[in-house]
Amino acid sequence: MIYLEYKELVEEIKKAAVKFYNLRYQMSNGGNLSIRIPGQDWMLVKGTDVAFDEVRAETLVIADFDGNIIEGKIKPSKEALLHGAIYRELPKVGAIMHCHSPYATAWAAGHETLEFSTHHSGMKLGGYVPVFDTHSYAVPKECFPMILQAFRENQNMNAFLLRGHGQVTVAQTMREAAYLAELVEETAQISILASAAEK
Ligand SMILES: [Zn+2]
Repeated sequence: MIYLEYKELVEEIKKAAVKFYNLRYQMSNGGNLSIRIPGQDWMLVKGTDVAFDEVRAETLVIADFDGNIIEGKIKPSKEALLHGAIYRELPKVGAIMHCHSPYATAWAAGHETLEFSTHHSGMKLGGYVPVFDTHSYAVPKECFPMILQAFRENQNMNAFLLRGHGQVTVAQTMREAAYLAELVEETAQISILASAAEK
């Protein structure tokens, strides 16, 4: 049985995944989430085609930042390469949440950035949440430089949206990354409801 050494990280990732499935922020078997393995250039990441409510030790994998399997019996998620590129670029990032939450994805369809519809979101989401066009169900490698460049130019950036796809948040811990993703979704929902309420 793998991951005994990383039991706490497995529990942390499973808790966030199941919560997001129950919130319907990630339905079906897409999305991805990962945690950096402390002291290594490795990550604990969801296996490909695994639903968020199926996340457990057996459906997770330890991979390096290029997606090569270190430990585990399942291929890492297709988004693992993007997560690896972010971990490599941003040493302070310890966890990444990617989900296809409906309001954030709907907002991205018609906007270039997330609008900070509440004081709380303006304060917590680093002041800038861009929308990227990546034209694919999984972010292709050629789009990584555009995303990493945005992080370089915006030191407080901790979230971005993918048009026609979903959202990604980064933080020190899985708990924080999940809360940021909930805030992105809440913010998009309020913006959409507010625009319907305006005359
Ligand atoms: Zn996705």
